[in-house]
Amino acid sequence: STTDIWKDAAAIEAALDTMTTRLRERLTRRGIEQPLMIGIHTGGVWVAERLHRRLALAEPLGHLDISFYRDDFTRVGVHPQVRPSYLPVGIEERHLILVDDVLQTGRTSRAALNVLFDYGRPASVTLAVLVERNGRELPIAADVAGFEAGFDSDEQIKLSGPEPLVMLRAHRR
Ligand code: 5GP
Ligand code: MG
Repeated sequence: STTDIWKDAAAIEAALDTMTTRLRERLTRRGIEQPLMIGIHTGGVWVAERLHRRLALAEPLGHLDISFYRDDFTRVGVHPQVRPSYLPVGIEERHLILVDDVLQTGRTSRAALNVLFDYGRPASVTLAVLVERNGRELPIAADVAGFEAGFDSDEQIKLSGPEPLVMLRAHRR
């Protein structure tokens, strides 16, 4: 088993800047002035905090917790359990930006959408992830991604955080 640095803090900051620009362009194009940002616990919240700050959003960052699914290195099950932890305001008819650190199968995002729709009907949901990696098992794609990467199934990306954010790549053999 080996671990190496894949993206250092400077590379992550640059990617977050690019994501911020892409999100701004998208919001402007769609005439959205007050999006509500929601991070998926835990890595997604660290990423969302950076984006939330850069976009200077008026309302607090929301977050969703995931239980009994994945941590950084272990796939615990194939049915992600997502529960709301903090949604600062109602999501009905709001434009949401859902943020996660890594998108792989898409099952976590799907579960997060399910939970959100239990709370209301958002006007739109944009998915922003720091890393869009291979391995999709559902028709879900990121609208905005910091990095796109193909990895072997035995490789895991570890995001150290919260400060500074550094991305490690671990090979398991
Ligand atoms: P998915 O549900 O799309 O398969 O996986 C996404 C979720 O699992 C995200 O919440 C993400 O944090 C975690 N995840 C999936 N693959 C990786 C990975 O390689 N590294 C890390 N750190 N998290 C991952
Ligand atoms: Mg996660």
